[in-house]
Amino acid sequence: MKESIQDRIDRLQTGGIIDMHFDLPMDLYEKRQRGEVLEAEFLPEFEAGNISVVGAAIYIEDRYLPEAGLRVALDQIARLYAETATSERFAICKSYREIQTARETGKIAFLITMEGVEPLGSDLNQLRVFYELGVRSVGLTHARTNAAGHGGIFAASGSPSEGLTAFGREVARECETLGVIVDLAHINPAGFEEVLSITTKPPIVSHTNVRRYYDIERNISDAQIKMIGERRGVIGVNSILVSPGEDKSTLDHYVDHIEHIAKLIGIDSVGIGFDFFEFIYRQWPESRQKELAAKFTTPHFIHDLTNHSHARNLTRRLIERGFCEVDIEKILRANWLRIFEQVL
Ligand SMILES: [Zn+2]
Repeated sequence: MKESIQDRIDRLQTGGIIDMHFDLPMDLYEKRQRGEVLEAEFLPEFEAGNISVVGAAIYIEDRYLPEAGLRVALDQIARLYAETATSERFAICKSYREIQTARETGKIAFLITMEGVEPLGSDLNQLRVFYELGVRSVGLTHARTNAAGHGGIFAASGSPSEGLTAFGREVARECETLGVIVDLAHINPAGFEEVLSITTKPPIVSHTNVRRYYDIERNISDAQIKMIGERRGVIGVNSILVSPGEDKSTLDHYVDHIEHIAKLIGIDSVGIGFDFFEFIYRQWPESRQKELAAKFTTPHFIHDLTNHSHARNLTRRLIERGFCEVDIEKILRANWLRIFEQVL
């Protein structure tokens, strides 16, 4: 008897989905008075989508900078530990072995990541502290300039043309020494190339889209994609910058981004970095949504790919688009697992 598509989705989902970028600590911090947010608000969606590893990103909003950056980052990590401690279903993981143990025991693994090194100020010692707290992936910048370098802007040209600062180079080198993944999401094109020139391990771009379909410097060009491929890195496809137009912000077009990367550098270099953000965006007053539109862009959420319970929709679409099962498993988890094994 031929296996139904539901059975195939179930089977492919069973090994778990890895999402390398989620703004979870920020939300836990904003809801710090409430407690048990993780189990009440996130666990049902993680379970429905068979999510097995989540890159939990420390990110500091402008309003906390510069004075409170370090404290808010520490508090975000504190909330993640506190909430994880109240549940049997989660584990904060610091190594490939710990991730595998979590997967084998049916726990959802968090890998703490840092999106922009603002919490470090310009003090390399702080990187060591965050490493001890469990940070295992670091992106030097978000969109704004900081002590390490410059972010890529949300336009086709015009990002600062300089690369990293001396501090940014130190951070990138120290990440490699410590065993922290260097994440090239957001950084400007000059910084992107400079990080690659001073590091040797496989790089990642945790959450991005391809400029071929959304031409802004925050995304990555074909030349940049090839640089990641040459180093056997992995690119996580983002769900919120799939297209400048609302009409093309679809699950199918999300898969086009996967296909484009795979066509350029092979299936071994493409993964998932959903960057689900609608739940935060909806909590904002209209004034803040407008601020985001003015500063960056208006995000177009994909209606059937807006939260982790929708991961099954992606698996279904990959099957429908003709990806073979080995390739689907690589996209859903195996490529990220290879990076964890190589770097952590
Ligand atoms: Zn981001």
